[in-house]
Formats: sequence, structure tokens, C-alpha cells
Amino acid sequence: MGRKKNDIIWGAFEFDGTQSKCKNCNKSLAGSYLTNLQRHLNKEHLALFHKLMEESELGDDPVTYTKKRKIVIEVSEEEVTDACIDLITVEGRPLTFLDSSAFRTFSEPIFNGLKMTMINSHSV
Ligand SMILES: [Zn+2]
Repeated sequence: MGRKKNDIIWGAFEFDGTQSKCKNCNKSLAGSYLTNLQRHLNKEHLALFHKLMEESELGDDPVTYTKKRKIVIEVSEEEVTDACIDLITVEGRPLTFLDSSAFRTFSEPIFNGLKMTMINSHSV
């Protein structure tokens, strides 16, 4: 997985043997040191950097994360409710975390599957 992340960062640059040229702003950086390249992306192209990092966490096979797949899970309403409450009380996440679109993306299919009311900061 770490290898994949490195590839993605290097992929944002063109290395000519001595310098790495940023494909986004054509700025040349000496060498191809990952930390330098990463720092440049983080400083100059933050949105892109976040996007690249998200991609690197999604897995090695590009097909598996772009394709929607049907999955079967076994979980009870109580487990889901408890997990949501634990996120806030035990894990210390802010209540608004439950309202975030990221949380909804993966929780919605579960709530729908269980025919539960969506848990958010108002209903928890
Ligand atoms: Zn750049």
C-alpha cells in the first residue's frame, strides 16, 4: 500500500534523472525525494494532494474502487446505533461528524438496508 502512495506522488512529477518537474505548475525540484515532492504538493496543490492521497488509500486495483458492487453484511440496528454513539462518546468525534457527507456515504446503505432512520447529530 505504501508503494502505491509513492507511485502516485511520483506520478504527479516528471523526473528527468536529476530534477522532478511538477506536472501542475512546471516547477522543478531537485532530485526525486518523496518527502520533497510530497511537501511541494502539500504546500502548492493541497486539494490535488488530498485527492491523490484518497486514491492511494482506495486500493491497488483501480477497477475495484470505481465499480459499485453489491455487498452483504450482517449487522443489527442496535450494533449500528451503538457504534454511532461510541464514535462520539468513546472515540471523541464531534457530533457533527454524523452529519458529514463522508459518514453518510458509507452509513446510508446500512441505514437503508436496516430500514432505520438515518443517525445524525439531531437524532442520536
Ligand atoms: Zn507544483
